[in-house]
Amino acid sequence: MLMKGKKGIVLGIANKKSIAYGIAKACRDQGAELAITYLNERFEKKLAPIAEELGCAERLYPCDVSKPEEIKALRESLERDFGQIDFIVHSIAFAPKEGLSGHFTDISKEAFNVAMDISVYSLIEVTRELKPILSDKSAVLTLTYYGGVKYIPNYNLMGVAKAALEMTVKYMAEDLGRDGIRVNAISAGPIKTLAAAGIGDFSFMLKWNAAHAPLKRNITIEEVGNSGMYLVSDLSSAVTGEIHYVDGGFNIMG
Ligand code: NDP
Repeated sequence: MLMKGKKGIVLGIANKKSIAYGIAKACRDQGAELAITYLNERFEKKLAPIAEELGCAERLYPCDVSKPEEIKALRESLERDFGQIDFIVHSIAFAPKEGLSGHFTDISKEAFNVAMDISVYSLIEVTRELKPILSDKSAVLTLTYYGGVKYIPNYNLMGVAKAALEMTVKYMAEDLGRDGIRVNAISAGPIKTLAAAGIGDFSFMLKWNAAHAPLKRNITIEEVGNSGMYLVSDLSSAVTGEIHYVDGGFNIMG
């Protein structure tokens, strides 16, 4: 029970295939108490049985991260129902379809701004708003992908967003370290999820990763979940500002 006594909020569960679900489940299995969020009413019904399973039916809150008032309301709900929290899992990204295939240089300013707002700035805003209720030994975790380091076909706009997210993790780690807040990212290998379905020719990415990663296979949300649990637990108490690869070793290959 590595997470016994720990309370945390998980943003980004769309369904049971979501990486956020894998992390939430691993934390719950190790004794954590959770709260989870949904994007809008359409998803509230879908998430209710998942919240029930994760033991947090009464802590299922709305939060569209593009709406500052919903992030503020999230803090109020958490403060009311939880008091303090020990960890935040930010497993959210979005880019308009035009940014995930075709000519990179054709991306519009609107699409660029939306992707950066939802996939990058939201990590800063959520953490800042929840900081007053973070305990003095707390952890923030986000999700990134190797397409933010090297060119990956069709990852396009999301690659630029992930590059920005990875530097955001490092600057936040320095800024918040003095308050006992650790900030890390997992760089996961490709996994078939709703968000991934938006990326052009995603099945090729899966095949390429499995063929070239040292482990010669793709990874699962359970494996990301276990690594995520480690990064929000006290087992990683001296780890901050890290981009931790959970990709079967793909990133070491030349
Ligand atoms: P999911 O589609 O399961 O999760 C993405 C989540 O982001 C969804 O819950 C979605 O909500 C949420 N979201 C989008 N826009 C908003 C918003 N404005 N406010 C609040 N929530 C929002 O896909 P994944 O689990 O794959 O994605 C999770 C993270 O993992 C992302 O950062 C992704 O880039 C990253 N990642 C994914 C990899 C993969 O191959 N799948 C590889 C490496 C990193 P909703 O569905 O309700 O719209």
